[in-house]
Amino acid sequence: EHVVNRIAAGEVVQRPANAVKEMLENSLDAGSKSITVTCKEGGMKLLEIKDDGHGIRKDDMRIVCERFTTSKLQRFEDLTTISTFGFRGEALASITHVARVTITSKTRDSPCAYRARYHDGKVIPLRPGDPAEPRPCAGNQGTTISVEDLFYNMDTRRRAFKSAAEQYALILDVVTRYAIHYGDSGVSFTCKRHGSASADLHTPAQSSSLANIRVAYGAALARELLELKAEQAPELLDKAIFDGAPADAPFSFRARGFVSNANYSTKRAVFILFINHRLVDSTSIRRTLESVYSSVLPKGTHAFIYLALSMPAPHLDVNVHPTKQEVHFLHEEALLERLRKALEDTLGSANR
Ligand code: ADP
Ligand code: MG
Repeated sequence: EHVVNRIAAGEVVQRPANAVKEMLENSLDAGSKSITVTCKEGGMKLLEIKDDGHGIRKDDMRIVCERFTTSKLQRFEDLTTISTFGFRGEALASITHVARVTITSKTRDSPCAYRARYHDGKVIPLRPGDPAEPRPCAGNQGTTISVEDLFYNMDTRRRAFKSAAEQYALILDVVTRYAIHYGDSGVSFTCKRHGSASADLHTPAQSSSLANIRVAYGAALARELLELKAEQAPELLDKAIFDGAPADAPFSFRARGFVSNANYSTKRAVFILFINHRLVDSTSIRRTLESVYSSVLPKGTHAFIYLALSMPAPHLDVNVHPTKQEVHFLHEEALLERLRKALEDTLGSANR
């Protein structure tokens, strides 16, 4: 049974960057205003995510790493970010099947922090001889999750990761994307290598998406960006986004983003897509937007595209593999058409 769980977990967490994404989302769900990711050896030796969110209650610490416990947890009342993406309640559990996990957490009401170590979904003693339960310790409000020796029990997987630098680059990329999307949400993001004096990414809490694009990609690109906007019946959205909305809700969406102009090209394509505040991928949106650029940019050059979409959850097909995050849409043709038109108008009016 352990082997089956481990294989399943290895599907959910295919590389360090997947684990970072899941843990970042948990930190954001917890209302954090400051999130720091620290990596050793590309996250293979150590991945640490420290946040200042609402923390995990002691009783919940016992079960947070069991599969599908989410519904059993004492949810915080103000937790409005109920996920609209399938496949939930598996991330932490999965990670404990393929790494050594330690969680330290303190809620506002608790006089102290608690720390627990996890293996195969269960709490194990912090030290040999200790009881297998969360132990009181010092700590500030928030949660720190340490993931050590990722894939220590999956030799083939571990050996397949040749370059720590490559894994770290993927992690930094995920943190950067979240920093851009949450640019004006008052959240500060930091990503660094353990032992390094300076961070590879640091964005201040009081910032903006554009300012964080500048931090991550440089002023030269940031100067060339245009704001992209499109929407359809947006008044229907705010009620409908989080579960609740009927599947026959009319087509509605809101799109906001920044895209490079038609006179500027990047060496490699950058496509950053968030839907209902989750980082996802959509081959159809990517192809649609990139094809607009391919008619205006020199061959072999690329564009920068950051797009944030909101739409009713029932209009999204999320019945997909957890690591691919590829999304399909109920009103796909209409949506693609509107986005293509919006990009053409944006590029066109900037050229006039
Ligand atoms: P899900 O996010 O789908 O519920 P996860 O396995 O990612 O499943 O997390 C399980 C639970 O652990 C979360 O629902 C949340 O209650 C708790 N949790 C995880 N990380 C944090 C964090 N950084 N701060 C507060 N609670 C957290
Ligand atoms: Mg989660």
